[in-house]
Amino acid sequence: MPVPLLDVNAQNHPLEAEFTAAFQRVFRSGIFIGGPEITALEDEIAKLVGAKHAIGVSSGTDAILVALMALDIGPGDEVLCPAFTFFATAGCVSRLGATPVFVDVCPICFNIDLNDAAAKITSRTKAIIPVHLFGQSADLDGLMQLAGQHGLRVIEDAAQAIGATYRERACGTIGDFGTYSFFPSKNLGGLGDSGLVVTNDDTLAAKSRALRNHGMEPKYYHSMIGGNFRIDALQSALLRVKLPHYAGYTKGRQANAAYYIERLLQVPGIVQADPAHCKCAAAQSAALTASDARLVLPVAYPHNEHIWNQFTLRVLHGQRDVLKNHLLSKGIGCEVYYPLTLDRQECFAPLPAASRQGCEVAHQLSTEVLSIPIFAELSESQRDEVVTGIAEFLQA
Ligand SMILES: *Cc1c(COP(=O)(O)O)cnc(C)c1O
Repeated sequence: MPVPLLDVNAQNHPLEAEFTAAFQRVFRSGIFIGGPEITALEDEIAKLVGAKHAIGVSSGTDAILVALMALDIGPGDEVLCPAFTFFATAGCVSRLGATPVFVDVCPICFNIDLNDAAAKITSRTKAIIPVHLFGQSADLDGLMQLAGQHGLRVIEDAAQAIGATYRERACGTIGDFGTYSFFPSKNLGGLGDSGLVVTNDDTLAAKSRALRNHGMEPKYYHSMIGGNFRIDALQSALLRVKLPHYAGYTKGRQANAAYYIERLLQVPGIVQADPAHCKCAAAQSAALTASDARLVLPVAYPHNEHIWNQFTLRVLHGQRDVLKNHLLSKGIGCEVYYPLTLDRQECFAPLPAASRQGCEVAHQLSTEVLSIPIFAELSESQRDEVVTGIAEFLQA
C-alpha cells in the first residue's frame, strides 16, 4: 500500500457534512468579507493559544508581513532570521526593503542558534524572527533575553507550530507577535490559503487590524499604507469545523512520532540526539557524525510540547538521497525540507555578504534532512511500512 507524505483527504473527508453545513451558513448569510465567522475564529484561536488578540489574515506569509509592517520595519533595518526555514520568513523582510540577516541553526532541534544570532547583531538590527521549525519551539527564554538586551522586536514564525508549547506557554504568544498559517499541509490545515497574527499588545493589534485592510481606519481614511491581507469568511467557517478536532490531530501526530522513535531505535545504526546536551549541540553533532551512526532521529526537548509538523531524520555520510530514492521506490512519500538554505538562494545574492555568512550547520542539514509521513491519520500498517523501508536501507 502506498504511504503518502500527507493525505489531506483522510482528515477532511470525514468532516464533509460539517464543511457543507458551514458553507451553507456563510452562503445563506451573504457575508463573505469580514463578519461573525472571522471574529469567532479569531476568538477561538486566541483562546486556544492564550493570546489577547488574534487577527485573521490571508496567509501565513501575510501574517509575517503584517507583523513586520506593524513594527515599522523598513529600509535600513536588519532582521535576524534562521537560514534553515521556509522562504516566507525572509522574503517578507526583503519585500519591506529591510535586510534579512541569516543566522545558523542548532543541529539537534533545527532552530535558530542564539550564539550566532548574538554575533550578528549590529546597530541596525531591529527584530529577530525565531521559527519554530517542524513543530518544536525555539529556545524562547534565551531568545527573549537576547532581544531584551538589544532592544529587538520579536516575531515568532509559528506557521508550523500552532498549539506547540515552550514551558507551558503557546508558541506565538511570547514575542511581540506570533504568526500562524492554515496552508493545507500545516497542522491546522484549511481548504486553501489563510493565516493569523496574535499579539498581547493592544496598540499593535489595532495597527495590524488596520494594516490588513489597506490601513483604513475609519472607512476611507488612511493614516498608514496597508494592503488587502484579509481572511475570507468562508475559509474562517471551514477552519472552525476543524478546530474542535485539533487536539486529536496533534495526539495522532505525537503517537506516530513516539511509535517511530520506539521502533526505529531498535534498528542498528539509528540513534536519537540527546536533548540534555542542547547547550553543546555542536559538539554532540560532531560526535554523531564521527560515530558509526547512520541516521539520527529528531527529539523533543523536555520543556517543549512538540506537535510534529514534520518528522525529520538526519541521514549521515552522504546517504540522504539514497534513502529518499529507496523510500520513493517503495511508494513511501518523503521530502527534503529544505534543500537550499536561504543564505544561498539566488534572489538573496545581491544582499551584503555580511548577511549571508556563517551558516555551516544549516548547510550541512540541507544535505542530510529527510521528512517522512507523520500525518495523524496514518494507519498502523502504513507506519510499519515506513519503519520497514528505513530498516531495509540500513541493512543494505
Ligand atoms: C508555511 C510557512 C509559512 C508561510 O505560510 P503560508 O500560509 O503558506 O503563506 C511561513 N513560515 C514557515 C516557517 C512556514 O512553514
